[in-house]
Amino acid sequence: MPTDGESRTFHGIGVSAGTAVGPLVVVTPAPKPAADEAPTTDAAAASAVVRGVLNDVASGLEGRAATASEHARPILEAGAMMARDPGLAMGIDTQLQAGKGLTNAVSSAVEEYCAMFESLGGYMAERVTDLRDVRDRAVARLLGQPEPGVPTLTVPSILAAHDLAPAETATLSTETCLGIVTAAGGPTSHTAILASQLGIPAVVQAVGILSVPAGTIVAIDGGVGEITVDPSEEEQELLQERKRRRAAALAGGTGHGATKDGYPVALLANIGTAADARKAAAQPVEGVGLFRTEFLFLDRDTMPTVEEQTQTYTEVFQAFGDRRVVVRTLDAGADKPLKFADLGPEENPALGRRGIRLGMIRTDVLDVQLQALAAAYQATGADVRVMAPMIATEGEAIWFAERVRALGLPKVGIMIEVPAAAIRSKGILYHVDFASLGTNDLQQYTMAADRMQGELADLLNPWEPALLDVVALACEGGAAMGKPIGVCGESAGDPGMALVLAGLGVSSLSMAPGKVAAVRTALSLHTLAECQQMAAAARVATTPKAAKAAVLAQADEVLLDLM
Ligand code: PEP
Ligand code: MG
Repeated sequence: MPTDGESRTFHGIGVSAGTAVGPLVVVTPAPKPAADEAPTTDAAAASAVVRGVLNDVASGLEGRAATASEHARPILEAGAMMARDPGLAMGIDTQLQAGKGLTNAVSSAVEEYCAMFESLGGYMAERVTDLRDVRDRAVARLLGQPEPGVPTLTVPSILAAHDLAPAETATLSTETCLGIVTAAGGPTSHTAILASQLGIPAVVQAVGILSVPAGTIVAIDGGVGEITVDPSEEEQELLQERKRRRAAALAGGTGHGATKDGYPVALLANIGTAADARKAAAQPVEGVGLFRTEFLFLDRDTMPTVEEQTQTYTEVFQAFGDRRVVVRTLDAGADKPLKFADLGPEENPALGRRGIRLGMIRTDVLDVQLQALAAAYQATGADVRVMAPMIATEGEAIWFAERVRALGLPKVGIMIEVPAAAIRSKGILYHVDFASLGTNDLQQYTMAADRMQGELADLLNPWEPALLDVVALACEGGAAMGKPIGVCGESAGDPGMALVLAGLGVSSLSMAPGKVAAVRTALSLHTLAECQQMAAAARVATTPKAAKAAVLAQADEVLLDLM
């Protein structure tokens, strides 16, 4: 339900700043098979209908794959392959011959197929999502309904959904998608990360937004997290005004990141692919603070060879010339499963053998990656810094650092994403050259709140004072050892939070490139002493809301236009 007195405004969490006005397009939910379906009497004719529909589903997915990004293409192609699988069509025939109606035959056959795949485990079990997606598309077509998922946007629109899967967000284009609003999802959800990567204004946790009919004109403010339904001309003008003020505040800044009094804070980009690298390298960023290498291989069945990886890393390093590139070794497991580095099902994957833990078991996978990074470093002489995900102990840091240094790679670091590593950062940093705070996971583990669960968004607010205390601990260890600590979680791209992080002592902030300008401006408006005061005020607050309010109360008023 709308949440203001006039019943026309929805509030959520702003996760990608910027404003937009446009018609709402609602992502269609998956249909259910018809409850009152007539049984099949002519199985041969029904089979022809279903096969025709499966063919249409496959062609549709192939068509989208042809123009999709490199993230989305393999996912769409995998779906098309499933739709064309003769085994699936034969399974549906069996159901039709037994008298099931069309949609129920498709649904039952897919469930049987899924059960078989699941029992095979590993790669096959992971195909279940593709299969169910094909089922939903086929059932929708049989019911004469639009296929579920993101429709093809023909006019610039604002997309509304319960939540968006990675495959769905990966197909969006900034030309037709003006904004994204989801009823669920949290600040570190795929929707949030992808929207900011694409520079699309986005609001998550806008509870009730799906009650607004498709086609309604809405205005969204991805900074403050507000959606206005049927905005009046005056409201649209206010939003435009805010857009102009924001543009003016951002204009002109391209140099190194620094506070007003010159305390340097390097402004870096988060990237996941070579294409991201090329785009980010064209922006005024000081390098890469987080190269999420697992994003390169999310849909690979087999481990990419040393040669293939060397080529990709070389391309990325070349794109950045002499600017630094911080590469994270594969962070496989939990929310980022890799088929070729799968250790089987776990009760609690986020607490399981993921990140460096997986790397220490699958040393073959880690070593191939390190060899490729070393070869690309040799070939380019780039400023390469390699870090490990999910370090929890000194022992892990020592183990990783030895392996990296043995290959001649110049700088080795670790990610601080586990509270234990923040608490013991001094001891850990003794063994490595730098650390980067992964505030997304650090918050998940500090609050014991699954970052994938939108319902826990209250516990995942990056302004959470407990998280700031953990960050402060990590920074104290860095200062004691004289080693640099950066931040590469989503927090780094929030202009207000950037001030707090600078005040806590971080020396680099890495974020979606589209967020760099606002963070640069925010830093340039405040001295280091002011940032330190704001950090102290945020830490004494007892709630995330109070922490943010305390910072905004002390900040330059232009900061409000940047958020
Ligand atoms: C983090 O956890 O903050 C981080 C940067 O890593 P990822 O989001 O890829 O887990
Ligand atoms: Mg992480």
